[in-house]
Amino acid sequence: MRARGVMLLRGLSRCLTVGIIRGFTPPPETPRLSWAAARLRFHSAGVFGIREQTLVAVKPDGVQRRLVGEIIQRFEKRGFQLVGLKLVQPTQDVLSEHYHDLHEKPFYSALIQYMSSGPVVVMVWEGCDVVRVSRMMVGDTNPADARPGTVRGDWCVHISRNAIHASDSVEVAKKEISLWFHSSELVEWESCTHKNTYNI
Ligand code: UDP
Ligand code: MG
Repeated sequence: MRARGVMLLRGLSRCLTVGIIRGFTPPPETPRLSWAAARLRFHSAGVFGIREQTLVAVKPDGVQRRLVGEIIQRFEKRGFQLVGLKLVQPTQDVLSEHYHDLHEKPFYSALIQYMSSGPVVVMVWEGCDVVRVSRMMVGDTNPADARPGTVRGDWCVHISRNAIHASDSVEVAKKEISLWFHSSELVEWESCTHKNTYNI
């Protein structure tokens, strides 16, 4: 009786295991994932949310002041993963879409003029809670209120030249990433530091 119970349990656990592995089977057009890659994808998307993405941009003043390298380094050292990066001269169309919710603000035209005055470096960073953490790393909109240790708190003085942009919610991040990047410009890659960054 006991042996039959054990066999039943073994059978059930085998079914479950096979079922879970089948759940990870990639669609036929993509290359077969290794078990480790499949497990990482499962954890990323479902459990730990380590595939959350945000748009970060070094604004024209930040580029002119050669802050790009230091800003990238902060995000890298924090443990986030770079999945998109380019230097662009933003068009009025992209900027008016990017700042559409501010179009009635008195500073709107000055903002668009300043943002189109030179190249910006746009990036997509990925990681757990990256939207929320990036906003903390960037600091308050007005550098006078931004804490030391934040980008704006360390390197900026005036609200009109605050060096950096970061998406303010996951939903906004998705829209901003698709506005600034074509999906083919984003690179999905497996970081060898994942195991030292997350409990996976
Ligand atoms: N801005 C400005 N004057 C203001 C408020 C905002 O020039 O009084 C600019 C500033 O560059 C800011 C951007 O408009 O970063 C977008 O404003 P938002 O409120 O979205 O601030 P952020 O999300 O960048 O902190
Ligand atoms: Mg904003």
